[in-house]
Amino acid sequence: MNILLFGPPGAGKGTQSALLVEKDGYAHISTGDILRAAIKNETPLGLEAKKQIDKGELVPDEVVTGLVDEAISSLGQQPFILDGFPRTVVQAENLDEILKNKDKKISKAIFLDVDTNFLVKRLSGRRVCKSCGASYHVDASPTKVEGICDKCSGQTYQRTDDEPSAINKRLEVYEQQTSPLKSYYIEVGNFVKVDGLGSFPEVYGRIKELIEV
Ligand code: AMP
Repeated sequence: MNILLFGPPGAGKGTQSALLVEKDGYAHISTGDILRAAIKNETPLGLEAKKQIDKGELVPDEVVTGLVDEAISSLGQQPFILDGFPRTVVQAENLDEILKNKDKKISKAIFLDVDTNFLVKRLSGRRVCKSCGASYHVDASPTKVEGICDKCSGQTYQRTDDEPSAINKRLEVYEQQTSPLKSYYIEVGNFVKVDGLGSFPEVYGRIKELIEV
C-alpha cells in the first residue's frame, strides 16, 4: 500500500514518515529532504531551489514532479510514503499521471490536521541535525546536550525556513496552494483525516489503524 501524508508545515509529516519507515518498512520520498540534500551538495538544482525554500515559497511544480518520478522509479515494488508532495493541485494531477504510467496507486491520502497556533510553536522551536536529519524541539523534545544530536552527535541547527518571516509565508502558501488538495482527494475517494495533535506515538497509532483497514 502506498500512502501520501499531507498537511500544513509543522503538522508532523516528517516525524510520522520516519516512524512508518522504521516500524513498517516503507520507503520515504520527501521532496523537502531531496531538495535540502541538493542544497547541501550545491548542485545546480539545489542552488536554484534554495532561493525559494529560504523565502518559504514553493519550488516549481515541474522540478519537484521530476524528482518524484525518479524516486518512485528507483523503488521497484517497495511500498512508499510520499511526504510533502504533492503540494499543489497541478502536482497531484502530475502524480496521477506518473502512477498511472507505472501501474501504481495511492491507497490513502492522509491529512494530518493541526491547529495553526500550534504549528507556529512547533516550527519556530524545531531544530534539525545537520548530519542525520533527526528532528528535535527546544521545549517539547530537546537534545540531551544543547546543539548536539542525541543519535549521531552531529550539530543541530534551525532551518532558515523555520525562522519567523518564512514560517508566515509557508503557512500562507499552504492555505492558498496546498489546502485545496483536501477536496481533490475527497473527490478521488482516498482522503482520510488524522488528528495530528498528541504525542508522536499517539499520532502514529492513529495512522497505523487507518492503514491497516
Ligand atoms: P518540507 O521539508 O516538506 O517542509 O519542504 C521544505 C521546502 O521545500 C518547502 O517550503 C518548499 O519550498 C520546498 N518543497 C518541498 N516539497 C515541495 C513541493 N512538493 N513543491 C514545491 N516546493 C516544495
